[in-house]
Amino acid sequence: MINVVAIATQFRNELLVMNARAMDDLTNRWRMVEAALKAEIEALAFQMSQAKAEGQTVSESQLYANDRYHALLVQLQRELAKYNADAAALIQAQQLSFASMGAEQATAWLRYSGAIQGSFYQLGSGAFENIAALARAGNPLADLLSAAYPATAQAITDELLKGLALGKNPRTTARNMVNDGLTTSLNHALLITRDQSVRAARLATLQQYQTSGLTTAYMRIAARQRRTCLACLALDGTVYPTNVMMPLHPQCRCAILPILRNRAPLAMSTGKEWFLEQSAKTQRDMLGPGRYGLWKQGAFQFEDLATVHSGGVWGANAQVTTVAALQRIGQ
Ligand SMILES: [Zn+2]
Repeated sequence: MINVVAIATQFRNELLVMNARAMDDLTNRWRMVEAALKAEIEALAFQMSQAKAEGQTVSESQLYANDRYHALLVQLQRELAKYNADAAALIQAQQLSFASMGAEQATAWLRYSGAIQGSFYQLGSGAFENIAALARAGNPLADLLSAAYPATAQAITDELLKGLALGKNPRTTARNMVNDGLTTSLNHALLITRDQSVRAARLATLQQYQTSGLTTAYMRIAARQRRTCLACLALDGTVYPTNVMMPLHPQCRCAILPILRNRAPLAMSTGKEWFLEQSAKTQRDMLGPGRYGLWKQGAFQFEDLATVHSGGVWGANAQVTTVAALQRIGQ
């Protein structure tokens, strides 16, 4: 018997390795943004620190009237636009390789499931462009990326005001503005890359199942790790028709296993069974004290840990059920 969970883990790891490379590229390219803004940020931190030393109060509204602050925001927007253009190209390329990998994994799953006897239609590279567009749910990558600008400008401003309020050395304030404020944009880009890549891979897997003509349903497999989302573990083993994407959450890494016509799905233990094998401490750590208390009282079933909301731009999403909602189930 093949170990379904081990194969799913191996496939997940292949994607993680590919992702790590893109993360490194984006982070390295980020150094150029930091370098371009460093002098301007330091000059502003020194000027404001000086103003404060001279007895002036420095507030957010006063900053808006400051030329140097304005110049920094203009430069920030320009540097982020350049960075985001590079990031968009990288994410686009990344989506295509993830889609290709997702389709390969689908083919492997079909073989493991016993479909190898028949031939089936395999997705060609032309399909991947389409999948990349679907993964963005109609949002251009540029729009997704540029959404970080207002938050980044605010984060830099907050760090500056915080540094001034605490009377920090302007050099320290400038460093915090770069490390804690400016990186808001980098983190946003990294998040989008991870999310978009995984979506593209999963969509390609699903599309490969659909076009193969061999399957009409698939089963969800969650990772079995302490940090696995509880909603995913609770939904593990759920069967969905291939014409719908299962409910996801941001950065969900659940795999999808084809169920062939007239064949039993590959055997595997469920997320619930895995959870029940864990020590009381692990269970408590994963559930948190509130849910754990209710779980021990038998106030809810394991499946109740997932709450599914339908609709939304990104499709149906799965969330971990709140303690309050679990409490209501028990009453
Ligand atoms: Zn998941």
